[in-house]
Amino acid sequence: MATSDRLLSPGHFDVDRLEVAANDNDGHEPDLLFTVVEELLRCGSNELHLEQEANFCRMRHRVNGQLSESRIQRADMVDAVLTRLRLASRQQQPNECASFRISADNIDPLATIDAVYYQAAAGPCLTLTLQTPQQIPETLDQLSLAPASTNTLREQLQNTLTGAAMIVSDNAACLNDLYYALLGEDNPQSGKTISIEYQVLKRVPRVVQISPLLYADSSAMIGNAVHSTDKAYCDWQSSQSGSFYAEQLWQQNVPLVSFHLARNCGTAMRDIINCAIDRQILATRLQKVINVRQVSTLCPHCADSHQPGPLQQEWLSAMAPADQSDVYFNTLGCSRCEYTGAAGKLTLIEIADCNDAMVAAIESRSANGFQEGFSRNIQCSIALQAQSAAHAGDLSFDQYKQLLDSL
Ligand SMILES: [Zn+2]
Repeated sequence: MATSDRLLSPGHFDVDRLEVAANDNDGHEPDLLFTVVEELLRCGSNELHLEQEANFCRMRHRVNGQLSESRIQRADMVDAVLTRLRLASRQQQPNECASFRISADNIDPLATIDAVYYQAAAGPCLTLTLQTPQQIPETLDQLSLAPASTNTLREQLQNTLTGAAMIVSDNAACLNDLYYALLGEDNPQSGKTISIEYQVLKRVPRVVQISPLLYADSSAMIGNAVHSTDKAYCDWQSSQSGSFYAEQLWQQNVPLVSFHLARNCGTAMRDIINCAIDRQILATRLQKVINVRQVSTLCPHCADSHQPGPLQQEWLSAMAPADQSDVYFNTLGCSRCEYTGAAGKLTLIEIADCNDAMVAAIESRSANGFQEGFSRNIQCSIALQAQSAAHAGDLSFDQYKQLLDSL
């Protein structure tokens, strides 16, 4: 029975159609890949996992939380999809984690596929994650920022920034969302167009970055980025090329916001300094440092209040002596939160202007000094935001403690 004759429900991944594409040897090279993407889009799934066995490929995907498994009869399915990814994105990529930008007439030009490839005992495996622009936050309002944080970020980054700011978080997803939200707000004309797109080698968010190996003329890319945005957004995770373009941007006096996946500001600064960035430029251009933490909030239906026990009292008097409350919360789990005790997310931010101590720490390559300088100059502290969230029943005592201990 021909695939087109059958009526398929939106949640149904058409395995037969994929199988036809997988065994089409008539030179329609990209068809297999685009069939995969089309089917994912059509059935409302964004992730597909492929496991190659000797004669067939096991395929798993999830729609509305429901896991489905099927088989494609092809002995080199994983390799075939990977080859098509490279062809479609014109990227030569090592067989590890990679983010591919794909294009076709019937697929959104901003869609990307994150591909994670690895060798298992039975054969190669490939996990494809589709990200479409609809899933990307467009504004700060779409993020679950703590009240007042949204306005603070707009004020600090969009209205008054003339130099460079660094944003640090230990949560890649949180950093990713913030990045796109800021980019969206700064590019009202071009929507969610990303100035410079490039694939990252690890599962860190898609970020603005240039690899001279990929683009023969990096300066032209930088020029375009600067031209099309008021601010440039970048990430430092892969250093060598990163320090190159950031210096270019700073010399052109373009406000720059850079994103760092790091435990804290000190760790992030150590990574930057190790990039061989010109410390003089960094010290003179760095204006603000922002620390971001994201936590899940307690389910309001099963949150229960309690008084702190002796160990908790001890921790409180050492770490949060100003916290005089004796009511904290915990969750038991209920059917409304699927017994996770969690409901929603809360993003907390703290901001510090770069002070003399931080400048001196950059010049003397002291990551600890930088962190200390930051801690002393914080305008709105995460500790205080966490304290009020703990008392409002949004955070459990353990989350509160974990958050403060991590700062
Ligand atoms: Zn609950």
